[in-house]
Amino acid sequence: MIVNEMFYSVQGEGRLAGVPSVFVRLAGCPLRCAWCDSKYAWSETAGRKYSAGEIREFIGSHDGRFLVVTGGEPMVRPGLKAWLDGVAGADEHVTIETSGIEFVDGLRCDLMSISPKLANSAPPNGPARAEHEARRFDIAALKQLIAAYDYQLKFVVDSETDLGEINDCLAKLPNVDRDRVYLMPQAQRRQDYLEKMAMVAELCKREGFRLSSRLQVLMWDGQRGK
Ligand code: SF4
Repeated sequence: MIVNEMFYSVQGEGRLAGVPSVFVRLAGCPLRCAWCDSKYAWSETAGRKYSAGEIREFIGSHDGRFLVVTGGEPMVRPGLKAWLDGVAGADEHVTIETSGIEFVDGLRCDLMSISPKLANSAPPNGPARAEHEARRFDIAALKQLIAAYDYQLKFVVDSETDLGEINDCLAKLPNVDRDRVYLMPQAQRRQDYLEKMAMVAELCKREGFRLSSRLQVLMWDGQRGK
């Protein structure tokens, strides 16, 4: 498994926001979202192989009770289940951050943190856009993930017009508990985050969703590995 980076930080988003966590970012993502904040992890070779022992050592050298596996897109990595079994300790809480484009059964995962990609994430015209549009929304995979794992759904909102698409998505997922649905502003920089936060909060108040922080943007303003 190619690991792009590992770092110790606090979870910035969703129900575990503020919890000190070890992040392991796997290399490779096919979606190429326009506003992705980890473009440096897109290539499947953007990193190096770490042994399970090296990763365990890194986790153990910090307060590793909370492990976040992110990307890239972890769910498309071959061998994810066996790799995770090797690196996650029995008493650790494991979050997997995913766009929800693929289902993998039987993962050592306590929270499947799913961020389905809306049309606002489409890259500019070209081959990347075609692949993005073909893969970004897989309702069958989303249903399986939600049925198999404890989950949260995090939607990235760029403008109020995204709300219709979010509700269309939820209409196709009738068993989703709205208390598990988070909206968060599309922002890579602190200023954009602050400008959009009130708009997203109003949508949450109106629709009964939860407002998710993006503490990493607020605190570190787009710096890598924080
Ligand atoms: S799915 Fe996530 S990692 Fe992949 S391009 Fe989109 S934002 Fe970036």
